[in-house]
Amino acid sequence: MIIILRPHSTDADVRAVEQRVREAGYEPHTIRGEVRTVVACVGDESQHASLESLVSLPEVDNVLPVQRKYKLISRETHPDAAVVNAGGVAIGGPALQVIAGPCSVESREQILATAAAVRAAGATLLRGGAFKPRTSPYEFQGLGDEALALLAEARAAEGLPIVTEVLREGDVDKVAAAADLLQIGARNMMNYSLLERVAATGKPVLLKRGLAAKVDEWLLAAEYIVKRGNRQVILCERGIRTFETATRNTLDLGAVAVAKRECCLPVVVDPSHAAGRADLVLPLALAAIAAGADGLVVEVHPRPAAALSDAAQQLDFAAFERFMQAIRPFVAAAGRRLSS
Ligand code: PEP
Ligand code: MN
Repeated sequence: MIIILRPHSTDADVRAVEQRVREAGYEPHTIRGEVRTVVACVGDESQHASLESLVSLPEVDNVLPVQRKYKLISRETHPDAAVVNAGGVAIGGPALQVIAGPCSVESREQILATAAAVRAAGATLLRGGAFKPRTSPYEFQGLGDEALALLAEARAAEGLPIVTEVLREGDVDKVAAAADLLQIGARNMMNYSLLERVAATGKPVLLKRGLAAKVDEWLLAAEYIVKRGNRQVILCERGIRTFETATRNTLDLGAVAVAKRECCLPVVVDPSHAAGRADLVLPLALAAIAAGADGLVVEVHPRPAAALSDAAQQLDFAAFERFMQAIRPFVAAAGRRLSS
């Protein structure tokens, strides 16, 4: 931390601040200027209380952090990229992984057919919502426990690891038993008690960025999980809310580049929820690959027009097959490869 004193501080002011810094367990190094005095505080911020509260002292003008607040995932402490193992699939390594499947699990036939189709096209993980966070309470809320059983059946049939969302703390154990990768949805990114509860399962976590979350808030949400001893976190950019309504959300690829630079965790992109319409999923995915995404999350449904949630943005099987072919040269150009 760097403490900037008010202009023309006296020796007594400086001593008072240095005293408080020592009391907090840091070593003060004072630099006196003509007008301004600055106190650089040396010490491990993970071992001592933050000095930010010293901003309330009358002698202090500002307190500036030097280290990142997300200490456990920061590139400052972890310069190398982390690789997360989701049910045997490495996310964050040389291969770009594609997570595909319906928005919601709707029936046995639907999820089994989709699992077979996405696997054949080259997806390496199967997604499907069992518990759905719907904006309206009158909309389809998911098949719940029945969907978890169907996802387990689909995994057994096709061998793809399962990604599904956990909405409530009370559901964590049963969802963790069925899923290889636990999704925290955009609406729950700041539900810190849920994050801690999910971390405790030891299962990998797919942490979607909140609709109105800044990048540092997203990274600090990941830090909550890692602080609980679970380093298996994958960040997912899925678009944020802006003034623009031409797309469902605004895909923030700047945030992908920043997150990749700031922290060691893999970052995947969900172009489906960003676009909100099937015809934009491919171009957004191509841009995400160029921006350095470690994977993609794509919604796929046997008959999108009949889907019980997110009908407009889901690709049918033929479109997904074309999608997988179309991304191939872009994946190679980004220096990556597809797993299959
Ligand atoms: C989903 O993945 O179907 C979903 C609800 O995503 P998000 O939390 O990003 O809205
Ligand atoms: Mn959806």
